[in-house]
Amino acid sequence: MNDLLTIFKNKLPPGVITFNSDDIHRCASDKWAPGFSQPEAVALPNHTEEVSTILSFAHQHRIPVTPRGAGVGYCGGAVPTKGGLVLSLERMNCIREINEKDFVVVTQPGVITADLQAEVEKRGLFYPPDPAGRSESSIGGNFSTNAGGPRCLKYGVTRDYVLGIEVVLPDGSICKTGGRTHKNKTGFDLCRFFVGAEGLLGVVTELTLKLIPLPPFRSCLSVGFSSMPDAATAISKIFAAGFLPSALELADAFTLEATWKRTGSDIFKDSKAHLILEMDGQEESVLGEISKIEKIIRTLECRSMEIAHGEEKCELIWNVRREFSYALKDTGLKKLNHDIVIPRGRLVDFFVFTDQLQKRFGIPIACFGHAGDGNIHTNVMVNEKESEQLACGLEMTDLIFKQVLEWGGKITGEHGIGLAKLRWWNQGTSKEERELHRLIKKALDPHGIMNPGKFV
Ligand SMILES: Cc1cc2nc3c(=O)[nH]c(=O)nc-3n(C[C@H](O)[C@H](O)[C@H](O)COP(=O)(O)OP(=O)(O)OC[C@H]3O[C@@H](n4cnc5c(N)ncnc54)[C@H](O)[C@@H]3O)c2cc1C
Repeated sequence: MNDLLTIFKNKLPPGVITFNSDDIHRCASDKWAPGFSQPEAVALPNHTEEVSTILSFAHQHRIPVTPRGAGVGYCGGAVPTKGGLVLSLERMNCIREINEKDFVVVTQPGVITADLQAEVEKRGLFYPPDPAGRSESSIGGNFSTNAGGPRCLKYGVTRDYVLGIEVVLPDGSICKTGGRTHKNKTGFDLCRFFVGAEGLLGVVTELTLKLIPLPPFRSCLSVGFSSMPDAATAISKIFAAGFLPSALELADAFTLEATWKRTGSDIFKDSKAHLILEMDGQEESVLGEISKIEKIIRTLECRSMEIAHGEEKCELIWNVRREFSYALKDTGLKKLNHDIVIPRGRLVDFFVFTDQLQKRFGIPIACFGHAGDGNIHTNVMVNEKESEQLACGLEMTDLIFKQVLEWGGKITGEHGIGLAKLRWWNQGTSKEERELHRLIKKALDPHGIMNPGKFV
């Protein structure tokens, strides 16, 4: 394959196809699969036509192509398990248009999510989906994993902001679908069809995303509880009282201790379970609502409560929250990390279940995440130096997925299937669903060149 790629390299402008070992090495991994599988070469296209040329060549010669955004996915989605080419969108990183009248942003896929958000916010506009890794992830990666985040409780996930896309299909043809209107019912919703496709159906080269007015004010409550079930009960009381916070995040004692060790911050000091709640909107209404919620929570025997008003003070809390994932890594234990999602009503049951499981196996399970959505990052923390622990950890993970599915939950809420969830793909989907996936894949990618080795 290398000879073929060398011939192709010479047909394209210099630097578009590279065999540079540093590039090959960094494109072998994502945050879930460090150093897992190297590609033969890396493609670094500068514009859509180059993407089209690359895919058309790969289609003709049956070369595997794995699209890559920023490579910070949490499921091995961007890892080229079958070698071939990694097609990195990192050079296609321009915001083409921010339109205050139409409330849209038109962007290339390689733009970093937090940079796009900062740019639109300068104009009083808001792009809400906020994966905790937003300062590292690309908007194309968010599109292709249908990324969520804390604010998705109130505002919805990436899918809800996609109005139009340009996508290069596996044979190299360029297709534009959707548009820039906030409503559109023209034929099938082809745009959303590519959302969360994890690079299996084509390469997204431009996105038109919906914007909304930027809420001028936000306040946060940071509340400590004695246990995760107590904190989960508080969440159901808040909903029952008619409030829809913009975010409701939970973290357990293991995560809080690891975060304290990493950051030195005492924000979550003394609690065994911690709830972060945010309200946003007009200042007067936010202040009114947050004080009502505070009263509800005070009736629930919380251990501590801090209130933060305004952007700067709220961000102090969120900056520490964004460290949860890395704090667990710092422990030196291996995280068997999954982003299960359960029906909201099962939150208390879930924490009781994971508590029993960790006691039974003697291996900690660190839980944190988007509790308001029922989307919990569940990390079985195994010590690889102890020979039995990895097998036990896997058994625990199997039991967690089995229980989640029995409750009507799903094996991933936002990270995707990639390699991480392959083991549970059959269990988590029906025969008919899998057949439909296969038919769609076959129709768009008959030679199976796009991101092979993954779930279809
Ligand atoms: C600290 C941390 C916190 C995180 N928190 C969250 C969170 O709160 N919510 C959440 O949802 N995720 C979270 N994640 C996971 C990660 O941020 C998301 O999965 C993100 O969408 C990955 O973006 P990326 O650009 O790195 O994509 P990559 O990892 O490069 O790719 C992801 C998938 O998309 C495909 N792909 C990428 N770009 C394209 C394209 N242009 N066209 C077609 N396919 C493409 C790839 O083939 C791959 O299958 C977190 C990650 C970290 C490290």
